[in-house]
Amino acid sequence: MITSKISVLIHHGQQAIPDLDAVTLPEIFRGRPVIRGGIRADDARKLEKLCPTGAIGTEPLCIDLGKCVFCGECQLACPDFIRFTNDHKLASASREALIIKEGVDKPVEFCEELVRPEIPKLFKNALKLRQVSAGGGR
Ligand code: SF4
Repeated sequence: MITSKISVLIHHGQQAIPDLDAVTLPEIFRGRPVIRGGIRADDARKLEKLCPTGAIGTEPLCIDLGKCVFCGECQLACPDFIRFTNDHKLASASREALIIKEGVDKPVEFCEELVRPEIPKLFKNALKLRQVSAGGGR
């Protein structure tokens, strides 16, 4: 951890956020969702139909972070079963790791071994990328 902070100082001269480990995001921020187990199949199908981007799958209930635009409609409809944490670490090199499954409450795994070898060579540690489509594909 300390080595990454030293690396930031070497590359950028200063650190805009003084302590990255101490950052807390506001409650209003919607990050990684958690799905409680035990939802009835018909309620899961209602959630599937409600989702504007097709991010919700059933059997078992899951949310695909690659499709989710974090509108919060599913949490509003089923607050006992779906809640959004403010865990902002949502990137992964694995498509499968972006599928949040019912009953699983653990961070999204980045899967560093799946990053193409030319990426670190091209960008070194200067750039972090996340592809975001906020529902702009209409
Ligand atoms: S937050 Fe919105 S887009 Fe994401 S799974 Fe729920 S309903 Fe779908």
